[in-house]
Amino acid sequence: MNAVDTDVVVIGAGVAGLVAARECARKGLRVTVLDAAETPGGFVATHTVDGIRLDSGAESFATRGGGKGKPGPVASLIADLGLGDAIVTPNPRGAWVQLPDGAAPLPKLSLLGIPGAPLADDVRRILGWKGALRAQLDRYMPLLRVRPETDLGGIVRRRMGQAVLDRLVTPIVGGVHSASPTVIDVHAVAPGLTKAMTNQGSLSGAVLALLEERGSKVAAGSAVAGIDGGMFRLVEALVADCKKFGVEFRMSTPVQSTGPAPFPEPVEGNGGRWVTTATVADESAQITSRAVVVATSFRTGLALLGGGLGLDTGAPESWPEPASVELATLVVDDSRLDAAPRGTGVLVATGVPGIQAKALTHATAKWNWLAEAAGPGRHVLRLSYDRDVVAQSPTQAQALADAGALLGLTLEESSVRGFDVTRWNDSLAFATVGHRARVEAVRAQVDAVPGLLVVGAWMAGTGLAATIAQSRPAASDFAFELRTGATPA
Ligand SMILES: Cc1cc2nc3c(=O)[nH]c(=O)nc-3n(C[C@H](O)[C@H](O)[C@H](O)COP(=O)(O)OP(=O)(O)OC[C@H]3O[C@@H](n4cnc5c(N)ncnc54)[C@H](O)[C@@H]3O)c2cc1C
Repeated sequence: MNAVDTDVVVIGAGVAGLVAARECARKGLRVTVLDAAETPGGFVATHTVDGIRLDSGAESFATRGGGKGKPGPVASLIADLGLGDAIVTPNPRGAWVQLPDGAAPLPKLSLLGIPGAPLADDVRRILGWKGALRAQLDRYMPLLRVRPETDLGGIVRRRMGQAVLDRLVTPIVGGVHSASPTVIDVHAVAPGLTKAMTNQGSLSGAVLALLEERGSKVAAGSAVAGIDGGMFRLVEALVADCKKFGVEFRMSTPVQSTGPAPFPEPVEGNGGRWVTTATVADESAQITSRAVVVATSFRTGLALLGGGLGLDTGAPESWPEPASVELATLVVDDSRLDAAPRGTGVLVATGVPGIQAKALTHATAKWNWLAEAAGPGRHVLRLSYDRDVVAQSPTQAQALADAGALLGLTLEESSVRGFDVTRWNDSLAFATVGHRARVEAVRAQVDAVPGLLVVGAWMAGTGLAATIAQSRPAASDFAFELRTGATPA
């Protein structure tokens, strides 16, 4: 790469970086995006299995966050990109939970597995009478002061008992956030829950109030949507829009360091500018710019801010280990699956013998557009594996055995039409207790560095909703300041 000089360098072409690049370019700034990967999108990616284009990472988004009757941050971005008509909701049949002693549909009125109506039939089926009555006690127990920062598991156990925690909340939180509820910060995964507890006087009352507020009395709680054709279309649309506004993309370009000049050493004429060092085709290259947006994943973000920029990011061991997830995708011909025996999928509780997967998505049962694309009798099954738990990548035989066990069928090897495994590293379990305070300490230092913006899920919270809700307005303000020298009102 020849020497590049631009207004803004965006490091990382995940959704956060693409959104930031688009906001800057739309305000007339020259933008160069650098990413270590071959293709943009980060965790929103695609692969083709048996001729069907599928999401290989994120496949849906939370619709919350827009206020009453208004689209949330993801839906409004999708609409701005001209894809509003392609937003689709998943099949409402809901998901199941696999317990050591059998499988059952997840309770309809629940949030992250916490039941809003503990004595309902679908809750009793999972907890039994004893567990359900213990959960119902929550309605009559006095509400002691809710601590300001506390773990979700502790709240659930205190209010509703161990059975709700083990058989409902742990499988769901493990599947969604790759972490145990006992280390998860309730405020990060269920904003408003503790406030609603104070207002309602109980945890189940709080769940009902939040479901009512979100207008989402749907299975498994938080309402989600997707894009007809796949979430990766969001990335394609963002990239196309960025290019329309002149954004330059440099892929396969890992960044080693960034900082305001003189950095890494004074170079004539670069005073007041940022210097970003990256590797291009095994050679080191420098890009100078007025400003830098760091939009990488978690570990790289810490290294760039702590290393090159010299910010105090705390001891590496004070941050949680990033989780690694492997997704095994199977395309099978089996018309027995047309009946969607486990709804849209299954979350697996701990201690289920013989099953290594932590969750299964029956993608063709979840998304009508995908069922149409696959055609009659052909099914897409996606299993996720926690790499901290399983030693090896799942083989086709393992995935097929797990899928069969979770769907209550024996799936024949001869029915397999396609198989692929995707590994995702560095996907931080953001929502751990104490994480918010660590992030805020870093953010305060970042805010004091002129020309620097940090966006992305590790700052904003896991998921497209939180990521876009942070990166879009932050980058818009940042670009406005760069453009005018003024702080937005
Ligand atoms: C398997 C999986 C499934 C998910 N499913 C969903 C879902 O269904 N719905 C949902 O809302 N969320 C989901 N998420 C979470 C969601 O995808 C992420 O929170 C979000 O995409 C994060 O975007 P980001 O831009 O912050 O980070 P990333 O997508 O991680 O992007 C960071 C980018 O930085 C680049 N990078 C890293 N190091 C360097 C370097 N040194 N130099 C240059 N570039 C670098 C990376 O290549 C990457 O492109 C899922 C996550 C995973 C892992």
